Amino acid sequence: MCVFCKIVNGEIPSKKIYEDENVIGILDISQATVGHSLIIPKKHYENILSIDDIDYLNVMKAVKLVTNKIGRNLPVKGFNILNNCNEAAGQTVMHFHVHILPRYDNDDLKIEFKSHELDLDEIQTKINL
Ligand code: AMP
Ligand code: ZN
Repeated sequence: MCVFCKIVNGEIPSKKIYEDENVIGILDISQATVGHSLIIPKKHYENILSIDDIDYLNVMKAVKLVTNKIGRNLPVKGFNILNNCNEAAGQTVMHFHVHILPRYDNDDLKIEFKSHELDLDEIQTKINL
């Protein structure tokens, strides 16, 4: 059983900040910023490619709720909402989850998009095949 299934079952402890019938929200054990949270479906799905549509919507609804809750109660200036899909993208726990990363003045989180000069028409054609 994966680590998030064990948390859902109560087999290992977690710092819960949200729970409903289908979803839990917990503090990430390694706080990239203060209040870094994870929204996790109670049912095991490996990633966004395989999660059931209704459970995906359940998760995203909770993401919005918890983001607002954090924003009300911590001196937050913004958020990054993030999902890593597969090892190539940095996924380490193979149970779908969404990161909520509160942002503060002078925090040390770096999320960087480098720009590449690529042919957008060609890419669009490939994706729309
Ligand atoms: P990802 O790299 O997107 O798969 O993120 C997995 C996240 O789960 C990491 O940020 C870990 O710090 C976090 N994590 C792993 N084990 C636990 C745990 N027992 N309780 C809370 N967070 C955890
Ligand atoms: Zn699991």
